[in-house]
Amino acid sequence: MDQSPAVVIGSGPNGLAAAILLARAGRKVTVYEAADRIGGGTCSAELTLPGFVHDVCSAIHPMAVASPCFEQFPLAEHGLEWIHPDAPVAHPLDDGTAVMLERSLDATCANLGPDGEAWRRLLEPFVMAWPKLRGEALAPLLRTPRHPFLMGRLGLYGLRSAHGLADSLFRGPRARALFAGLAAHSVLPLESRPSAVFGVIFALTGRTVGWPLPRGGSQHIADALAAYLRSLGGEIRTESPITRLPDAPLILGDVTPRQLLAVAGDCFPEGYRKALARWRYGPGAFKMDWALDGPIPWRAPECARAATVHLGGTLEEIARWEAGHTGPPFVLLAQQSLFDPSRAPAGKHTGWAYCHVPNGSTADMSGAIEDQVERFAPGFRKRILARSILPPAALERRNPNLVGGDFAGGVCDLRQTALRPTPSLYATPLKALYLCSASTPPGPGVHGMCGYYAVRAAGVPVQPPAERR
Ligand SMILES: Cc1cc2nc3c(=O)[nH]c(=O)nc-3n(C[C@H](O)[C@H](O)[C@H](O)COP(=O)(O)OP(=O)(O)OC[C@H]3O[C@@H](n4cnc5c(N)ncnc54)[C@H](O)[C@@H]3O)c2cc1C
Repeated sequence: MDQSPAVVIGSGPNGLAAAILLARAGRKVTVYEAADRIGGGTCSAELTLPGFVHDVCSAIHPMAVASPCFEQFPLAEHGLEWIHPDAPVAHPLDDGTAVMLERSLDATCANLGPDGEAWRRLLEPFVMAWPKLRGEALAPLLRTPRHPFLMGRLGLYGLRSAHGLADSLFRGPRARALFAGLAAHSVLPLESRPSAVFGVIFALTGRTVGWPLPRGGSQHIADALAAYLRSLGGEIRTESPITRLPDAPLILGDVTPRQLLAVAGDCFPEGYRKALARWRYGPGAFKMDWALDGPIPWRAPECARAATVHLGGTLEEIARWEAGHTGPPFVLLAQQSLFDPSRAPAGKHTGWAYCHVPNGSTADMSGAIEDQVERFAPGFRKRILARSILPPAALERRNPNLVGGDFAGGVCDLRQTALRPTPSLYATPLKALYLCSASTPPGPGVHGMCGYYAVRAAGVPVQPPAERR
């Protein structure tokens, strides 16, 4: 066993996953975190009023429960408990109803009007293949797949846009709207590739793993990872920003290309420096949280069955916002306290929402976001006790990985998904230094798989992903 020291820069989910895998392989691991608390994108805080626990960034975690990396860790023993709402996603419409993404494929198809069968034909083959698919989907794109036929079939959707696929498959507004909301998680215009494959994968996770939230807040994901790491002998130092490359035989950076350049740029050959400098960051997030006097008064009562609610109306409206940020914003909303009473004082509630905005935008979207909630939940504003507003610059101040508010670690188009962030992926020209953030494959989301593959790339033995339902 190689017991030499290893350093991880950053304590996001990928940094902590990498640190755990290194510690399990016998390395003496130290994690340096710039902020005064651990977790990066998985953290919670009383952003509004005492007793109201808000998820600052990530809230809903299909990818964490799908992750072949996290499932290798005994996180439940370290305090992590998943809560599964009755339905993964609600998508209200102006007619006063809501389209539901249900745990059951039959139930989802039944609420899609004329498009139920088309939805079934799209998803059923992948539902059956999920035990094989999940490890393949959360892995680098450019590798020899273990299941080439299956990945080839899924990959066909990677060559299509969400708008194009919806036009070719769905006739009615309900399936089109639901698919658009799911595909918009790609943070890509719905006319561009590979937005369709994001829609397919997020629809699939609704059926296969659900869209759960951690009891007590997303901070509990980071805290459970950290507790397990410490039980393995790992150490975490907060308020310790790394500004120069540490002297260690192995260093993993849970950072994006811009910070990598700042920390180690002088040590890189010019070609690699230029490649990192060419990295394209994507739209930012404009984030809001509310302390509420009661639950959100949805016009469509089904909305109260899901923790995640997509507010954007029709496919056309969502597509317009994601393409050029015009018209009413597409708002992603979570209502955690409906399912987890520990998030707010008795009888009170929390609301969490964001919309995509141009990178670094200084526009105040708070009124437009609240208008969208009010559109589907008249009387919402009257329930607001306090609000927190985090525009892109405020998000970046909390976490330097959120460059211009970009929470994907860089645009997830075809090129930047395949060569993330350069053709050498995790490896850098320095033998001791690897990247492990969401700016490496498989990209954004709380799943730890970037950390997993980075540790593997560094030649440290890791347990292979299991194929399980
Ligand atoms: C508003 C918002 C909502 C989101 N919602 C969801 C969601 O619901 N579900 C989901 O799965 N994902 C969601 N995400 C995305 C998710 O949070 C990220 O994809 C994920 O956190 C990326 O993990 P990471 O480990 O790569 O980086 P991060 O979580 O960004 O962690 C990086 C860490 O490195 C630290 N760091 C950076 N530079 C240095 C340095 N030089 N020295 C020391 N420390 C440093 C940072 O302070 C930070 O703690 C959301 C993100 C945002 C912003």
